[in-house]
Amino acid sequence: MHIAIVGAGIVGIQTAHALLDDGHAVTLIDPDGLGQRTSRGNAGGIVHTDILPLASPKMWREIPRWLVDPLGPFAIRPTYMLSILPWLFRFVRASTPAQVERSTQALIGLNGSSLAAWERRLRKLGLEQKHLRRLGYACIFAEQRQFDAALPALKRQEKLGYELELLSDHAAVKRLEPALGPAAVAGVNYPAGVSVDDPASVTMALGEEAIARGARLVRDHVLSVRPTATGVETGLSSGQTIASDVAVIAAGAWSRPLCKLFGDEVPLDTERGYNLTLPKGSLGLSRMILFEGQGFVITPLDIGDRIGGAVEFGGLSLPPNYKRVDAMLGRAKRFLPDARFEGGTRWMGFRPSLPDTLPVISPASKSDRIIYAFGHAHHGLTQSAITGEIVGALVGRRSPPLDIEPFDVRRFRTR
Ligand SMILES: Cc1cc2nc3c(=O)[nH]c(=O)nc-3n(C[C@H](O)[C@H](O)[C@H](O)COP(=O)(O)OP(=O)(O)OC[C@H]3O[C@@H](n4cnc5c(N)ncnc54)[C@H](O)[C@@H]3O)c2cc1C
Repeated sequence: MHIAIVGAGIVGIQTAHALLDDGHAVTLIDPDGLGQRTSRGNAGGIVHTDILPLASPKMWREIPRWLVDPLGPFAIRPTYMLSILPWLFRFVRASTPAQVERSTQALIGLNGSSLAAWERRLRKLGLEQKHLRRLGYACIFAEQRQFDAALPALKRQEKLGYELELLSDHAAVKRLEPALGPAAVAGVNYPAGVSVDDPASVTMALGEEAIARGARLVRDHVLSVRPTATGVETGLSSGQTIASDVAVIAAGAWSRPLCKLFGDEVPLDTERGYNLTLPKGSLGLSRMILFEGQGFVITPLDIGDRIGGAVEFGGLSLPPNYKRVDAMLGRAKRFLPDARFEGGTRWMGFRPSLPDTLPVISPASKSDRIIYAFGHAHHGLTQSAITGEIVGALVGRRSPPLDIEPFDVRRFRTR
């Protein structure tokens, strides 16, 4: 078959590979070319051990404290307050214990399969050594109560077979990462954690490989996608039309208006995120560190030390507020007393986020010629390879590699 993929971010590109594996002809359509939006600047972690949804009672305990600080890790731009209210309302509804458990189960399935899917893809292409960094990652706590509160989830991760080492005091944290100062009172180390060399480099390499394998790249903006009796017609802003058998919507944070074309009202919004990439070695860390409750992570990438995070609700068109980067930097300094914080490049990206922390990976509700693959929020790099495999199975009418009912677009109909 011929499959048109709208969006050439990491999700669209990984999907292209899965479809090429099955012998399909693939056209990737993106006005910006390969991987130029959110996928190029993320923190680079393949966080396969992450099992907890963002929407949770824990989050609600933290949010009031964060919201009073306009540069805190979770912020709403004043002019976007009204627009984001319905999303936030659904976010609260997704934070009931029953829904948190459903989302956790879904994340265990998806994230739990994510690293193996990445390894399969990169191994097949001979790119594993070049792009995967098997350095482990660790999560750090600034307060003992946060560490104590995390223990049940850590026990659950252990039961699921994830290797982890509790760092129950600062001395244990310091033995693992000597650069971390006394503000890091406890932590947990995941020795099998993996990150990438640089999200831009791995996304571009995968995109170029897809083209080398026969995928076509069309640099244009998709205006319309229309299922017909025999296939799908995709209309571009140049006036050209692309005919295919199936179309995949992988347009990240920009997918919502496309879903509307098929009658699917999806509560997709964006959690804007920021980062600063400092010269390599500035921060003295040897692995990715997630700072629990602080809203940022640090990853030593091949291209530099990246401090990334923050959640800002401000839609797709407001300009960035780089004061958030300065705020993140201020918080990072507390943990890294001897680091060098000079220079660096700032960036903002648009996480495609749904209120229940789960992506949409399913056929459109009214046409199985349209397949959705978007909404991966904080986990898009992690979940991209397994998402591609799921879409491959849906197109090929095979059983998907895991239960995909939690990712069905129809879940939003009843809420
Ligand atoms: C600060 C930050 C840190 C992050 N850290 C991590 C991390 O460590 N690990 C992790 O797993 N995830 C992380 N993420 C999340 C991850 O980056 C995203 O989930 C992921 O990049 C989404 O990929 P995507 O392909 O869906 O979207 P994108 O990369 O945004 O791609 C969507 C593409 O669709 C195109 N498009 C849009 N509309 C149209 C149209 N009408 N026609 C044609 N093309 C269109 C766009 O041009 C774009 O190229 C982070 C995100 C941020 C912001």
